[in-house]
Amino acid sequence: MTTGYVFHPEYLWHDTGTSAGLLPADPTAGVQPAVHVENPDAKRRVHELIHACGLLGELMVIEPRRATVAELTRVHTPAYVQHIKTQSDLRGGGGDAGDGFSPVGHGSYDIARLAAGGLIELVTAAAHGDITNGYALVRPPGHHATANQGMGFCLFNNIAVAARHAQAELGLARVAVVDWDAHHGNGTQAIFNDDPSVLTISLHQAGCFPPDSGWTHENGTGDGTGYALNVPLPPGSGHAAYLNAIHQVVLPALDRFAPDLILLANGFDANVFDPLARQMLTAASYREMTRLLVSAADQLCHGRLIAAHEGGYSPFYTPYCALAFLEELTGTTTHVTDPLAAVVAGYTAEPFLPHQCEVIAAAAQLVERISPAATSITGSQ
Ligand SMILES: [Zn+2]
Repeated sequence: MTTGYVFHPEYLWHDTGTSAGLLPADPTAGVQPAVHVENPDAKRRVHELIHACGLLGELMVIEPRRATVAELTRVHTPAYVQHIKTQSDLRGGGGDAGDGFSPVGHGSYDIARLAAGGLIELVTAAAHGDITNGYALVRPPGHHATANQGMGFCLFNNIAVAARHAQAELGLARVAVVDWDAHHGNGTQAIFNDDPSVLTISLHQAGCFPPDSGWTHENGTGDGTGYALNVPLPPGSGHAAYLNAIHQVVLPALDRFAPDLILLANGFDANVFDPLARQMLTAASYREMTRLLVSAADQLCHGRLIAAHEGGYSPFYTPYCALAFLEELTGTTTHVTDPLAAVVAGYTAEPFLPHQCEVIAAAAQLVERISPAATSITGSQ
């Protein structure tokens, strides 16, 4: 088994400016310049930890390239792609992808193309059998971006671009997107909402971001009815709720759908230290969730599980979650264990609460709307 890894220094050069957390700095309104919450630090520290602990040597490094306009416009409107370029061309920054919360720095257009192209290269390597699975530590993130609107720090929807590339160029017809970022994968859902060839499953904090998005009743439209699943977990959900959601919704849905490729919108912002969500996962949780997904990919699609980095804003804890994820992906371990394990140990033993159970049960009921494919984990028709 070989795990591919995409990273590039330019990913850290996407400049989100002097925003104060989420808000563009505006001294006239009393918003002091500070650091944008989506800054390079967490991502840089993930890469450094992977390198320092020796895991990088276990990975097949795949060089990213810039996605072409033709590749981007399989997903995005030409006008939107041009909009990002125009914003990116502004000297001195100050551009935005569309919602006022998604900075486009000078030159970010090319960096965002390098992020989407990184995913394309990883999926291509998997399709050709050069790697079994892979991780693209890219920036800017993608899962909130719709066809014609950037939002939530996302410019181009990296995973959606890779999914369409896989279908158009690589013969991977059925693509499942699992999104466990703490926020709803609204962009990916919207792009594939009426398309039964792409199953989207999002586990996220209910009512967090985007506002009023990601409810269970959002279940796809038209031919895609049944092929968008949402598990809006209550704030405070942690290890037990997420593991139950994977067992009761994600795995049965993947089993019925029988994908040729599983893409993972890999946000680490459901960890307990994240400033932008109120969930309670630990590195041990990500390890177990990953183990289950790797196993499903092994049984359903020759191990083809390709992950794109999305959120994860705790610079000090995200690296340990990412390391746990990568250890499971590669099937190896390093000498580094979660140094905060003792602090968070109690969270993995929390009870599975009734209000969490209710949400998961409601989503689980919708799994049967997916037409069963010929092959599955259980072999059932
Ligand atoms: Zn997020």
